[in-house]
Amino acid sequence: MPAIEKLGAATRDKPLFSPDNVTVIFVLGGPGAGKGTQCANLVKDYGFKHLSAGDLLREEQDRPGSEFGELIKTDIREGRIVPMEVTIQLLENAMKATMDREGKTMFLIDGFPRKLDQAHAFERSVVPSKFTLFLDADEEVMQARLINRGKTSGRADDNIESIKKRFKTFVDTSMPVVKEFEGQGRVVKVDAVQPPEKVYEDVQAKLKEWGLNPQIVQVEQEQSYAAAA
Ligand code: UDP
Ligand code: MG
Repeated sequence: MPAIEKLGAATRDKPLFSPDNVTVIFVLGGPGAGKGTQCANLVKDYGFKHLSAGDLLREEQDRPGSEFGELIKTDIREGRIVPMEVTIQLLENAMKATMDREGKTMFLIDGFPRKLDQAHAFERSVVPSKFTLFLDADEEVMQARLINRGKTSGRADDNIESIKKRFKTFVDTSMPVVKEFEGQGRVVKVDAVQPPEKVYEDVQAKLKEWGLNPQIVQVEQEQSYAAAA
């Protein structure tokens, strides 16, 4: 089955899921802030499903016959945001597939929304998020991490030219999303310059304040989801 059949997900005017049944936490932070690393920790201890918007886009880019392959490739290399219709459809498909196959209803959506239109469209048409985990790091630190990752990642955008463009896009286009959510009291900010273990300790402490504790959470929600179905 093709990953994308139609691009209807971003146009709905009512959310597909209720936040009572489906939990979404957005994980944002500049390129190299450590989103993937912290998401992996959270998956292990809390049973979340991790969906990386960037990974889903790279997968679609490499899917034979994808009509969006070239567009995604160029946008990623140039550090630009791929049109939201594509990314939101990929996320929605991945969420549905996860619920069907794994029964999971708690999602960490990593590297999304990177632009205000995406944030609005996703919350309007898929599901409102619970909060955004914002990993805060300065460019010097992130750049060093990305250059290091570039030695082995094989990613077309882990080179200094693309990195500079990605930083600019992050500041100009993605930070307004964090600011808007912050104004709504829906941002959990963690200092991501610290070593990864220390960052994770802080993440866990903050999640606890939002009532999220290791493991148990997922089970409780699955039960209520099953009861509502
Ligand atoms: N991207 C996008 N929309 C998204 C997420 C990612 O267009 O919602 C593109 C964008 O070009 C970005 C690239 O995918 O620079 C890589 O994103 P990823 O999250 O993998 O990179 P990270 O920030 O984790 O290094
Ligand atoms: Mg990433």
